[in-house]
Amino acid sequence: MACTSIVGINWGDEGKGRMVDLLTEEYDIVVRFQGGGNAGHTVINEFGKFALHLLPSGVFRKGVVNILGNGVAMDPENLLAEIRDLKEKGVDVTPENLKISDRASLLLPWHRMQDELEENRLKDKKYGSTKQGIAPFYSDKYQKKTILAGELFYPAKLKNHLKDLAEWKNLIFSGVYGAAPVTEADLEAWLENCCKPIMPYIADTGDILREAQANGKRILFEAQLGSLRDLDYGIVPYTTSSNTLSAYAPVGSGLPGADINRVIGVVKAYSTCVGEGPFVCEMFGDEAERLRKAGAEYGAKTGRPRRVGPIDLVATRYGVQVQAATEIALTKLDVLSDMDEIPVCTRYLLDGKETDKFPFPSALDDCAPVIEKVPGWKKDISGIRTWEDLPEEAKSYVAMIEKAVGCPIRWISVGPERESIIKRA
Ligand code: GDP
Repeated sequence: MACTSIVGINWGDEGKGRMVDLLTEEYDIVVRFQGGGNAGHTVINEFGKFALHLLPSGVFRKGVVNILGNGVAMDPENLLAEIRDLKEKGVDVTPENLKISDRASLLLPWHRMQDELEENRLKDKKYGSTKQGIAPFYSDKYQKKTILAGELFYPAKLKNHLKDLAEWKNLIFSGVYGAAPVTEADLEAWLENCCKPIMPYIADTGDILREAQANGKRILFEAQLGSLRDLDYGIVPYTTSSNTLSAYAPVGSGLPGADINRVIGVVKAYSTCVGEGPFVCEMFGDEAERLRKAGAEYGAKTGRPRRVGPIDLVATRYGVQVQAATEIALTKLDVLSDMDEIPVCTRYLLDGKETDKFPFPSALDDCAPVIEKVPGWKKDISGIRTWEDLPEEAKSYVAMIEKAVGCPIRWISVGPERESIIKRA
C-alpha cells in the first residue's frame, strides 16, 4: 500500500497546497492530521484560485475521499465558510467526499476570543498568533477541556459538558482578562448555526482508514505549516501548537499503524517567515521588497507581508532531517529568474565560528547568516517543463540545494498553476 505524507520543510507557505493538489491524482484518500484554520494552502486549478484553510487539498478531485483527522483543530465556523466558498465556485463538498473524525476536538467559540485577549495582553512580546484560537484550543485539548465532534450526537450529555466548560472558561475570562463571559445563548447559537450543519460529515474515520488500508487504498497525509513551526522540534515558542512532522501523521490522522514509505518535503527556492521570532537569513530594504513582490509573499489567511530571505541551507537541512524526508519538491524557482546573482545562506556565524548545524532556539538570536552568491539565469523559466530545458545556472542552483540538504529533489515548480511543474526521473 502506498502511504505518503506531504510536509513543509521550513516556516510554512512552501507551496504544499499546490503539490497536494497535483499529487491527489495518484491517491484515493487525503487526510489532514494537524493544525486548523490558521494557515492557508493556495491552490490554483481549473475551478479558480482557492486559499484552503481547513479543508484537505484533495477536495478538487472527483473520487477522492478527504478526511479531517482527530489531530486537527476542528473549527466548525471556519469549515462552513470554506465549504460555502467552494460551492459558490462550483466545487461540491459533500458527506461523500469530506469526512470529519468523530474524535476530532472542536474549536469552541471562546478559543478565538482567548487568543486575541492573550496576544493583546502580551503587547510587544506577542508570539505572532493568527488569532484563530489555535493555541488556546490545543492547550485545552491537552487539559481534556474540549468537545469531541462525535459528542454532537449525544445532545443531553453535550449540554452539561459545555455548561461545565463554560463555567471554567468564564473564570479565566473574568479573572485573568477582565472580559465579558460567554453566555448560554452564545453557545446555543453556535451549536445551531455552526455545529448542526457539519453533523452529516462526522464519521468514524479511523474505521474508514483501517478498511482503506486493508484494501490497499493509496493514502496521502497532508501537513500544515513546516518543520520549524513544529511544537517539539521547531523554533520554540514561535511555533504552532501542534506537530507538523510526518511522524505525527499516523496518530493525528486516525491510522496509528500507517506505514508511511514516502515523505515529500516541500521547500521554497528562497525563505519566507510569517510573524515573530528569529529568522537568521532575513533580508531587508529594497532587496527584500523586490523578492517579496516577485513571489507575492503576503499571507493567504492574514494578508500580512511575509518576511523574506535567501534559501537557508542550515534550516532546510535540519527541516529535512526532522521530517525524515525521502524526496523534495522545490517550489517557486521562477521567482528568482530576475536576479543577476542569487544569495544563499550556507552557514550560520555563532560565537565567532561558522556552523552548519541548526542551533538551539535560544541561540538563534545570536546567529548571523553566512551568505554566498551564485550566478542567476536571468531568463523566464515559467514555460519550461523538463529538467533538460532548464538553464545551466538553474540546474546548478537545484543541484547545490540537493547536495547541501542530502535529499533528492524530484519536482521543481516554476509557476503557481497545476501544470507549471518539472518532474525529474
Ligand atoms: P502552502 O501553505 O505551503 O500551501 O503555501 P501557500 O499557499 O501559502 O504559498 C504558496 C504560494 O505560492 C501560493 O500563492 C501559490 O499559488 C504560489 N506558488 C506555488 N508554487 C509556485 C511556483 O512555482 N511559482 C510561483 N510564482 N508561485 C507559486
